[in-house]
Formats: sequence, structure tokens, C-alpha cells
Amino acid sequence: MAPPLTDASRLCLHTMTTKPWTLAQCARRYADAGVKGVTVWRNALAGTGPAAAGQLLRDHGLTVVSLCRGGFFPAASAEGRERAIDENRRCVDEAAALGAPLVVLVCGSAQDQPLARSRGQIAEGIASVLPHAAAAGVRLAIEPLHPMYAADRSAVSTMGQARATCRQLASPWLGIAVDVYHTWWDDRLEGEIRACGREGTLFAFHVSDWRTPTVDLLEDRGLMGEGCIPIRQIRGWVEEAGFRGFVEVEIFSRRLWATDQAQYLADIKAAYLAHA
Ligand code: ZN
Repeated sequence: MAPPLTDASRLCLHTMTTKPWTLAQCARRYADAGVKGVTVWRNALAGTGPAAAGQLLRDHGLTVVSLCRGGFFPAASAEGRERAIDENRRCVDEAAALGAPLVVLVCGSAQDQPLARSRGQIAEGIASVLPHAAAAGVRLAIEPLHPMYAADRSAVSTMGQARATCRQLASPWLGIAVDVYHTWWDDRLEGEIRACGREGTLFAFHVSDWRTPTVDLLEDRGLMGEGCIPIRQIRGWVEEAGFRGFVEVEIFSRRLWATDQAQYLADIKAAYLAHA
């Protein structure tokens, strides 16, 4: 079990968590709240561009933790797969300009073909992007997604599948983003996290909570403490495995986006200190 936290020095927010805010508002409000890290979603770069966005965030004392997201490699056609690889190289370029050391991959899935074929195409796609990522000094993190997204968002559903791809490609530029929302149900999670630590692939850690009932597959995540995920226990496993990076709050919630975002940010910080 991780020791109780007394500060927010490792708290990172995803810009999508406070989706109603512009990047400039995120920068100012996060900094004022004592948040230290930020993971930028690509939609937040519209208007400013990645280089200016990175400067803005650093000017507010924020560390840019990662860029979300690349991926979506599988496609029935070779042209579709090539387009995806090109798009991922652009995403890596954006991360480099932003000053983000990591791109998180939502790997994708094509529902008109078997999952195993999609997983093969994911490995091929990542292999094609890795030299570009290494040259740019940007790491890639496979994020296993909850199996409810297996048909359309990620054929990679488990830590075990993500580790298999990491072992296959064996690059220091490729690792895994552990998101409690996607992995909490997995009875092998503790051992998989420990194995990631041994293999040096534990690149990122995302938190939110699982609400029951979940009324929307994409946009009904809970604030930490609102659901059933043993977040602090999983964080303990991650830290025992050697992870010392930011704890990233990534919440997509129409319910919470509709509330006053300044109050919500205060609630996030309190929930982080109490439950993450
Ligand atoms: Zn995540």
C-alpha cells in the first residue's frame, strides 16, 4: 500500500478532464490550483499549435507529461493502415514540438476482422512509427483499453496483450500506460504491473473511477472515490514496480463537464488526495 499523500506534487491533469476550458484556461487554473503536470489532448492544440502550447504550459510552471493520443492502427485496407502510420508520425512530431516526452496510443480495432489480426496490425503499425519516435526523442505507450471497447477503439484489452507487443518489438521507446479505469477488473493486474516494472515498460499511470451503473461507454467516468476501483491499491502496485512518474487524472464525464469547472478542479484535487 502506498503511503498517504500530503501534497499534490505528482498530480497531473488531462486537458480533456476539464474539456470546457481552453488550453490557456487549463494552464492558468491548473497552476493556480497547484497542479504540477499536464497531459495534452490534441484537440486542445487547435489554434495555438504545439510549440506555442508547450511554451504556454511551461510558462505556468507545468510539466508536459504526454500527448494524447496516437494509435488507431488497424484497417482492412493497406491504404488505411498507411494513413494511420502517417498520422502517428505527425502525432510524434506534435509531441516533440510540444515538448511532450510521450505519446499515448489508443491502438484501435477494426470490427470487420478478427481481433488477432487487428493486434498484428497494431504491432506492425507501432513498429513502423518507432524509428520516427526514437529520432524525435518521443516514447510511445500502449494503453490497454477496457474490453467494452474491443470492437472499435482497442483490440488491446489487457496488460498481458500490451506486454506481448512490447516484448515482440523490444524497443526502449515503447512501453505501457496503465489506466485503472481500463484494467481494474483484471485478476492478473498486480502480476502484470510487476512484470512491466521488471521489463522497464511502465511509462504512465492514469486514474479515474468506475461508476455503477455506467450510463455511457465513453463519457461517464467517475471522480476518484465515486466508484469501485481500488485506486490506491493499484497505485501501490505501480509504485512497488518502480514507477515514479505523475498520477494522471483522466476523466471523461458529461455530468462533470456540465458543472462549474473551478469547483470541479477543487473537487479533483481533494479526491486525488483522499483516494489516489
Ligand atoms: Zn487513460
